[in-house]
Amino acid sequence: MGLWAAVFAERMGIDTMLIDAGTLGQGASAGLIGALMPHTPDQWNAKKQFQFEALVALEPEIARLEAETGLSTGYRRSGRLIPLPKPHLRQIAIDRAADADVHWQSGERRFHWNVVDAPSVVGWPDASGIEGGFVHDTLAGRVAPRSLVAVLVAFVRNARHVRVIENSVVAEIDFERCTAMTERGSIAFGHCIIAAGHQSFPMLARHTDGLTQPLGQPVKGQSALLKADVDPSLPTIFRDGLYVIAHEGGHVAIGSTSENRFDEPYSTDEQLDVLVAKGRVLVPMLADAPVIERWAGLRPKAIDRDPMIGPHPVHANLLALTGGFKVSFGLAHRLAEAVVTMAAGGAVPFAVPESFLLASHIRVASR
Ligand SMILES: Cc1cc2nc3c(=O)[nH]c(=O)nc-3n(C[C@H](O)[C@H](O)[C@H](O)COP(=O)(O)OP(=O)(O)OC[C@H]3O[C@@H](n4cnc5c(N)ncnc54)[C@H](O)[C@@H]3O)c2cc1C
Repeated sequence: MGLWAAVFAERMGIDTMLIDAGTLGQGASAGLIGALMPHTPDQWNAKKQFQFEALVALEPEIARLEAETGLSTGYRRSGRLIPLPKPHLRQIAIDRAADADVHWQSGERRFHWNVVDAPSVVGWPDASGIEGGFVHDTLAGRVAPRSLVAVLVAFVRNARHVRVIENSVVAEIDFERCTAMTERGSIAFGHCIIAAGHQSFPMLARHTDGLTQPLGQPVKGQSALLKADVDPSLPTIFRDGLYVIAHEGGHVAIGSTSENRFDEPYSTDEQLDVLVAKGRVLVPMLADAPVIERWAGLRPKAIDRDPMIGPHPVHANLLALTGGFKVSFGLAHRLAEAVVTMAAGGAVPFAVPESFLLASHIRVASR
């Protein structure tokens, strides 16, 4: 999130300092999955519209950054397959196809929620026991998280208006003096955007009176990367919270656990073994594919589950940019553009759902 904010600050010509406690992109964004999954197209609302526009806008944003840096993000709008195990799910899916025809269009571009009888590639996924067919949506995509982060890092390292400071924890923020206390000394700011992942919640809470609950929590996730000779254009498979994603370069990612309680934030365990075993059943061609990496990270889940962005209701020069939870990669560019525009005192050129605003989350956490 912070990297995207730096990209927009550079484009707007705003002198910016990007301070990271470790090395850039080392947090939850350094994972393996990178699913860009739309909400279902039924019961349309402001959040779904925001996400739709963000997913459409990501493609040209990525193309621009790739052209500017000469690097690849591993992005592809490869679609998504959702098995419909029971016959009654088919009619629900057909109704949603009609909703997609209405809502999933942007100018000339149209995306579809197709209902199909079988996957286009036999075994991706296994169709036995699937009685209702499959949804094949053409809006979903994926990106390789580390490649995207590398592209963003390359961009900001060459930016004219962005200075990067790594391995420096922001410990305290003084709003009277407009200074941030870091291990390297105190840094003056005009506006301060807190994009510290799940660690943003306690940082923001320290400057907020009247809270009765935390502003958010970390939710652990574990995932795995397999080596497999699989066509990278195959759609992402999504079943019962399990993702199987074909990435470039003969990689397939399987994820993710969702753990509200955990003792070891960054280690993997038998819960990941179970997930990988389920992935191999879902896609038998992965039965013998070696696991080449296991990874765990902490997602930032805001109290109201939505992203948490925008100015603090009391300290207007403090802005939040966090709470992407499970959908950060599809939204981060738009959230960052909105927050940097707000910090610059401009008018955000697209609608931001009210429930995304920090002020809204603070109200929920103060009840
Ligand atoms: C297993 C797993 C699978 C996931 N799959 C997907 C997916 O498929 N699609 C999707 O969209 N999302 C997915 N997510 C969620 C996504 O990874 C996160 O929502 C996203 O990476 C959060 O980005 P962020 O920039 O808010 O936080 P982070 O990437 O965690 O970055 C926060 C940064 O802030 C720095 N920082 C923290 N505290 C301080 C401080 N005091 N001072 C200075 N710097 C500080 C950290 O060093 C870090 O670099 C997944 C997450 C996990 C764990």
